[in-house]
Amino acid sequence: MQPAPAGSGSYPELDPAEVDDVLTFRGVLEPAAASLAARATLSPAQRGHLLRTLAEVASAPANLYRPKDARFHVAIAEVAGSPSLALAVADVRSKINDLLDRIPLIQPNLEHSNRQHQEIVDAILRGDDEAAFKAAQDHLQGTASLLHGFLGHSQPEVSPQETAPQR
Ligand SMILES: [Zn+2]
Repeated sequence: MQPAPAGSGSYPELDPAEVDDVLTFRGVLEPAAASLAARATLSPAQRGHLLRTLAEVASAPANLYRPKDARFHVAIAEVAGSPSLALAVADVRSKINDLLDRIPLIQPNLEHSNRQHQEIVDAILRGDDEAAFKAAQDHLQGTASLLHGFLGHSQPEVSPQETAPQR
């Protein structure tokens, strides 16, 4: 499915159609999952699960950020009450990570993401489904902008050695 990279460089090129597909699907799933989670009556264990995964991603070192972030997003879908939804979120998230692995990790994005995660959880825990939907949507916009930004720059100026993304 990947077109052969036109030039050189260690990062495979991003395929615009693949990026759009994954971002569109994620944009449907995750705000809906956050909204459902906010409307659900969460048990203390479910609240604990959300807060624990939130704390883990917030304190994750850069090299563990993406897996912890993925875990947090799946947790939102899990407490929404649909295992199929949680599976779909996990699947789309692994595709997002494949795309993100092709671009450098940027520290300020992580701090911004952590604030957005907190907003999503706050909205879910106070049962505000509209705010949860909106916060999740805003959060996904960050990833979309990041990936679209790199689509316009198929050869990042940052050298891969300095920023090698890790799982
Ligand atoms: Zn996130």
